[in-house]
Amino acid sequence: MLIFEKNMKNSTVTPIKKQGQIKSKPEWLRVRAPTSPEYHATRKLMRHHKLNTVCEEAACPNIGECWSKNHATVMILGSVCTRACAFCNVKTGKPDLLNPHEPEELARAVGGLGLKHMVITSVDRDDLSDGGAGHFAKCIQKVRATSPDTTIEVLTPDFRNKVNALEKVIDAKPDVYNHNLETVPRLYTSVRPGARYFHSLKLLNNVKQKDQSIFTKSGIMVGLGEEKSEIYQVMDDLRSADVDFITIGQYLQPTSRHHPIIRFMPPDEFNELERMAYAKGFLMVSASPLTRSSHHAGEDFAKLKVARAKRLNSPR
Ligand code: SF4
Repeated sequence: MLIFEKNMKNSTVTPIKKQGQIKSKPEWLRVRAPTSPEYHATRKLMRHHKLNTVCEEAACPNIGECWSKNHATVMILGSVCTRACAFCNVKTGKPDLLNPHEPEELARAVGGLGLKHMVITSVDRDDLSDGGAGHFAKCIQKVRATSPDTTIEVLTPDFRNKVNALEKVIDAKPDVYNHNLETVPRLYTSVRPGARYFHSLKLLNNVKQKDQSIFTKSGIMVGLGEEKSEIYQVMDDLRSADVDFITIGQYLQPTSRHHPIIRFMPPDEFNELERMAYAKGFLMVSASPLTRSSHHAGEDFAKLKVARAKRLNSPR
């Protein structure tokens, strides 16, 4: 794997594994297996409404904690993705037929969970003329109609080459618009080959340009071979796109066929990234080994609103 040899040579990080082996996690990344009754109740509800969750599909380490608090991230538009990103555990291939009842089922599940804040994400649907944007909008509208007090966060694909797709989602007025950059631009060809870094940045910028009231959010994973200076550059790029909230978490390799972990970043370095991100002007920062874009999304949304009000009221 030439690319990794090159990364290692130029990097300050210590490579710890080769593709094909999965190194055991350090102590700070170990979590307990989920057992609580609330976890099982959330699982049952998702099955009952035939909903997919990214929590399960991505084998998220926070599932025990989140589901015990009734917090799940629903993955709409099927369970098969049209892209094949090297970090992602979601199946790739011929996508499912669209389930026209999914928006209603989602709205019922949100009502059943009694959620204050809901995160909706999806697989990539490059096969659909609008990339699934219209379906996102329907899901937002149905949840709004049945649970008007629930705030809604979307975590969307990049809608690359899909005309007016972004506008459909923005017009449905989610409270938070999240689109993850995932990694630094140098690693896009090996980590996220179907995407383009500047397209994703532009999408985030367009959300803000079109509707200032929507909070924007984006995240990256570390441990894929990136340099610190490249992470700081991503922070600057996101601030130039007026993004409010950055999330930074440790990449975990789902299987031996996925991109290898180049490094486990220790917790104190996440603290350093958090300080730097706040210094660059983000309203909110979540940086820790177990940070995921939807982890603590409800609590973070409440903090975001407070941070924005404080900034708007502060003397310039
Ligand atoms: S962090 Fe997000 S993906 Fe992971 S379990 Fe929680 S809600 Fe699901």
